[in-house]
Formats: sequence, C-alpha cells, structure tokens
Amino acid sequence: MGRYTGPKCRLCRREGMKLFLKGTRCESEKCAIARRDYPPGQVSMRRGKPSAFGEGLREKQKVKRFYGVLEKQFRRYFAEASHSKGNTGETLLQIFERRLDNVICKMGWAQSRAEARQLICHGHINVNSKRVNVPSFQLKINDEVAARVDAKTQKFVRMRLEETKGRQCPSWIQAEGGDKVLGKVVALPTREDVSIPVQEQLIVELLSK
Ligand code: SF4
Repeated sequence: MGRYTGPKCRLCRREGMKLFLKGTRCESEKCAIARRDYPPGQVSMRRGKPSAFGEGLREKQKVKRFYGVLEKQFRRYFAEASHSKGNTGETLLQIFERRLDNVICKMGWAQSRAEARQLICHGHINVNSKRVNVPSFQLKINDEVAARVDAKTQKFVRMRLEETKGRQCPSWIQAEGGDKVLGKVVALPTREDVSIPVQEQLIVELLSK
C-alpha cells in the first residue's frame, strides 16, 4: 500500500471518486485515486445496497465536499433552486458553478477552491472593477472578474496560471492570462459544464420529501 496522503484524499477514497480537494496534485499522477494505492474494498466500508435515502445523502455530501459548502448554505441554495423555473437539480448545480471561488479555481488562478476562497477573502479579486471578498458571490452573464493590479497579486496569479496550465477552462468563461489577467462570464453554465459525477435527481428526491 502506498503512502498515506492526508485526510482530503481520504474523503475521495470514501466516495470512491476524485473530489479535487488538493489543487494541482489532484490533476497529477500523485493523486491517490489515480494511483489506486489502496487495496480493493478500502474505498468504502458500506455493505449491501444503500437505501434511496442513503444514496441521496451520499450525493449531497459529494457536492458539499466538492464545492466546500456547509449544510446551511446547501439548504439555502436548494431552496433557491426549487423556487426557480426549470429543473431543480440542474439549477442547483448551476448555482454552485456560478460561485466566484469556483470560477477562480476553474480559470486556474488558484490550485483549489479552498485557495480561491482565501484569495477572495483577502481582497485580491475584483468583479466589475469592484473588490469582492465573498467567495459565494454569484456571477452572472457579462460579469468581469479580475485579479487586483498590485504586483503581489499579479505575480501570485501568474504563478498559479503556470502551474495549472493543463486545466481546461469551461466555455462559459472567457479567460485571458496575457497582459491582463481577467475573465468574463459569457454564458450560464449548463449541466455538461459540471465536472463532478453526481446524480442530482437523488438530492432533489431526498430534500423534497
Ligand atoms: Fe487527493 Fe486525488 Fe482527491 Fe485530490 S482528487 S484530494 S489528490 S484523492
């Protein structure tokens, strides 16, 4: 068995899938899930077929861990999604995708969503030329996200861009890493833009009871 790689990897092992909690490591060969450096059966201690309730709960946990949100916020997002027109599950995922910390991570300005949250909270990010220090900020079409122009922020973001070069930015975000480090929301994310394999319908069934 390989080296123990920390509690975050343990969460992925428990779910049996990549949750991308450790930045560039997750995209490298060092990822514990990619290496499968554990014996068969260690991923999950569950036995038998899980109930519908159990399955819904598991999918909800997966989304919470992936986007790094707590129960209260998850419930708030769910209430918002269920009150909006269209498919509740898809709207819920769209709300998660539109979070500022998620977008910063997708553009490669941070190694992980946790690091993106730090960058935002410390005031290094502007949206439409105004400082935004709320990681859950919801972006909409035509919003422009920029790293602050001070040398320290620019240096940090460029360093991260270099490290995350292989990361693919989704088509709903137009990112520029040239002279100006900025990104623009050109469309709303669709279901296909959600990279986490999740059965959102099970979450809807769980929380609609
Ligand atoms: Fe660890 Fe891989 Fe999960 Fe990243 S995706 S936290 S490296 S197991």
